Amino acid sequence: MTSSPQPRAAVSQIPPYVAGKPPVPRPDLTTYKLSSNENPYPPLPGVVEAACGAVQTMNRYPDMGNTALYDALSAKLGVPTDHLALATGSVALIYQLVQAFCDPDDEVVFAWRSFEAYPIAVTAAAARMVRVPVLADGRHDLDAMAAAITERTKVVLVCTPNNPTGPAVTQAELDAFLAKVPPHVLVVVDEAYVEFVRMTDPVDGVATYSAHDNVLLTRTFSKAYGLAGFRVGYAVGPAPLAGALRAVSLPFGVSAVAQAAAVASLEREPELLERVEALVKERDRVVTGLAEAGWTVPEPQGNFVWFELGERTLEFAQAADEVGIVVRPFAGEGARVTIAEDEANDRLVTLVGEWVTGSR
Ligand code: PMP
Repeated sequence: MTSSPQPRAAVSQIPPYVAGKPPVPRPDLTTYKLSSNENPYPPLPGVVEAACGAVQTMNRYPDMGNTALYDALSAKLGVPTDHLALATGSVALIYQLVQAFCDPDDEVVFAWRSFEAYPIAVTAAAARMVRVPVLADGRHDLDAMAAAITERTKVVLVCTPNNPTGPAVTQAELDAFLAKVPPHVLVVVDEAYVEFVRMTDPVDGVATYSAHDNVLLTRTFSKAYGLAGFRVGYAVGPAPLAGALRAVSLPFGVSAVAQAAAVASLEREPELLERVEALVKERDRVVTGLAEAGWTVPEPQGNFVWFELGERTLEFAQAADEVGIVVRPFAGEGARVTIAEDEANDRLVTLVGEWVTGSR
């Protein structure tokens, strides 16, 4: 017997969440944070105004029903409000869905490498992770993921576009996968970067969940809408699944300020989507620049690109630091770099050119 309180055994197994490093300010050079897949544009003035207005109410708890935001999302997506569940970022939804659907030792299947919060959420719930390696081109190996499903599997996470490797699954691939998944397994399609997808046969998430009782989408205001600091994510799925997420949610999690910012952003969606379009153009420009420099990345469909660098990953991250761009290294594997300000993107392409020729 130990004399102090002991957390559950699973707690000591939880891997750390390594947040993207902020840049160290330098007198000689503007530095850029390309390590967290954030949107480089600040919230629109109207969004700031709405959020500031809501600050006046902060002596009160927020609207627990998140009414205005549920109504705005319902109108945008054309789905009933009871098909939605809001949370403090879509990362909270990942935790909640493991909590709601998994008993200890139940299995959660996901691709690897993928979003680093998955192992954390699964381990914290004392569930088991079943990680299926991504293909050499960074895409999900959906055949292998389907084959990994057992009677103990409760959830499969499909991250599309996949963070950090970049590619997205097609509707045909997802349909073929869903046809193989037994009905007791919840398939979560993590669409954190969905607004950046430009491909033939993209997934239509709403149509997909509408046709399946076991499919749930997760989305976020953090990326395309540029509200990462406000912490708002949402799930879309059949009412019983969305209801389960709401049941385990923290009361009053999404603040009044965050609700106001999200609603104001939806009211200004065309302007925000123009910014997304500009980032997509920049992504294309970077991919072309990298190819000209002699480096091919897996097809990026989010607001980031992936460099497979193996043992040279930390060296690359260091070289990036030196030119004032902070990237996100995964030691021994590769580096993920967010598409951001034009100048930052230029520096990335130049750096990779030098890296390829060995001059850096
Ligand atoms: N899913 C994926 C694939 C992500 O990359 C992220 C953020 N890095 C999230 C979910 C969570 O985003 P948030 O909690 O800010 O909504």
